[in-house]
Amino acid sequence: MNYNLVMLVKEKNTFTQFDNNIISQIENIVGKKNIISDEEGVYAYSFDCAHIPFNKKYPRIVVFPENTLQVSEILKLANKYKIPVIERGAGSNHAGGCAPVKGGIILHFSKMNKILEINNEDLTCKVQPGVVVGDLQKAVKDIGLFFPPDPSNLAVSTIGGGIALSSGGPRAFKYGTFKDYVLDLEVVLADGSIIRTGSQTVKNVTGLNLTQLIVGSEGTLAIVTEATLRLIPAPETTNVMLAYFDSISEAVDSVSAIINNHMTPSVIDLIDKKTVQTIENFYPTGLICDKEAVLLIEIDGDVASVRLQQDKIATLCRGYGAKHIDCANDEEHRQKIWTARRSAFGACAQLAPNVITEDVVVPRSKIAELSKGILQISEKYHLITMVMGHIGDGNIHPNFALDLRDAKQKQNFELAKAELFRLAVSLGGTLSGEHGIGCQKANFLPLALDKTTLNLMIQIKKVFDPNYILNPEKML
Ligand SMILES: Cc1cc2nc3c(=O)[nH]c(=O)nc-3n(C[C@H](O)[C@H](O)[C@H](O)COP(=O)(O)OP(=O)(O)OC[C@H]3O[C@@H](n4cnc5c(N)ncnc54)[C@H](O)[C@@H]3O)c2cc1C
Repeated sequence: MNYNLVMLVKEKNTFTQFDNNIISQIENIVGKKNIISDEEGVYAYSFDCAHIPFNKKYPRIVVFPENTLQVSEILKLANKYKIPVIERGAGSNHAGGCAPVKGGIILHFSKMNKILEINNEDLTCKVQPGVVVGDLQKAVKDIGLFFPPDPSNLAVSTIGGGIALSSGGPRAFKYGTFKDYVLDLEVVLADGSIIRTGSQTVKNVTGLNLTQLIVGSEGTLAIVTEATLRLIPAPETTNVMLAYFDSISEAVDSVSAIINNHMTPSVIDLIDKKTVQTIENFYPTGLICDKEAVLLIEIDGDVASVRLQQDKIATLCRGYGAKHIDCANDEEHRQKIWTARRSAFGACAQLAPNVITEDVVVPRSKIAELSKGILQISEKYHLITMVMGHIGDGNIHPNFALDLRDAKQKQNFELAKAELFRLAVSLGGTLSGEHGIGCQKANFLPLALDKTTLNLMIQIKKVFDPNYILNPEKML
């Protein structure tokens, strides 16, 4: 990569290498109130949820654009001087997707956070990238509509981050992920041009599908400045239940039975014993702690069918070995179960200074094998591991609690991680279901993609971003 070194942020003398003239030009574009350029200020943007601060790379400047034209002007400048640009929503990704590994400019979208339109006739909405997913869900729910993608941290994660990662969440089994809801994007390209990729229609086969190419591209191809999203009618009601089993295999068999009996719950999540114990330890909600596996199942639809499905699912689970079933009987109970589920990451974080959430996906039939393998790997490398995930779509998230300051633990984790990825691929799965590749998994791509495919992706990147300024060292 042929960067103009004067412009690149280096570990030493970070703050003298970046020409002050460039800072002034950025200031002229967005105004002084929309930048942070002092060392203490930019430090907070040198990492995301993936523990990258150990690389000690800081961005030179954090910019808070207020509109698309400002983003375009910044990109023209960055492209001219070959300065890396890293897009950032809430910074909550687990893959080092926002890490400024080459320094440069962080584009932070918290000031482009407006819901521009909700169209209940066309079932669409138009939003800026900084809109928080949970806020959009609430806004559309108020008029009887539903935006299903639900990363578990939807109280903070943004639409821009969700699109860039094609984030999913528990409801992906029935409703899919972000990719299934993006109709049109306004994006800024690396040279500052502004384009639209799709249309306001649900159907569209006009030209190549650039919308879907950009969804999940982790900010490496273009910067999302506006999105038109598909909405669906909200289900009349939902209910949630927990089924406790003596083994993960019993839980997996129950899931197959539910599906084979023509039911599609909105959520089928698996939580292992260690995770349940950890949640209950730190946020007691009355979970039963001595069972090897718990299924969290949510059903939605009209009132009569939800009741019927709930009874059928309880009977099936009992038939496959469930020792206890806990069905929510009111909204408070429902919220209590969901709060327990969403507390998992926070609870694990109480066990050690760091929690690393991994994300692998396998065909659903291989979940039991994968879970067993994860526990064997953890034992081999002496790691505290909690397994949970979206069993309905084969997506498992082992949470590793460890202390990354301890060189041995860090090394063991790296070895375990490599084995985990090899295991997932050997079971017919792949490296990420929803958290993305970022800089954490970039080196492992050849495990999952053949050389020709990888080369094609690199060529596509070059067409979009010939100077390699957009979110460098992520994914490819
Ligand atoms: C407790 C917890 C629970 C989570 N649960 C889930 C879950 O259930 N499912 C799931 O899928 N993920 C989950 N995640 C991971 C993550 O939060 C989500 O993927 C989320 O969608 C990321 O949103 P963000 O706003 O934080 O994005 P960021 O972390 O800020 O950015 C993510 C990526 O998007 C790029 N990006 C951001 N904005 C733009 C833009 N405007 N244009 C182009 N690129 C952009 C960034 O450069 C980066 O590569 C969880 C994370 C945490 C901490």
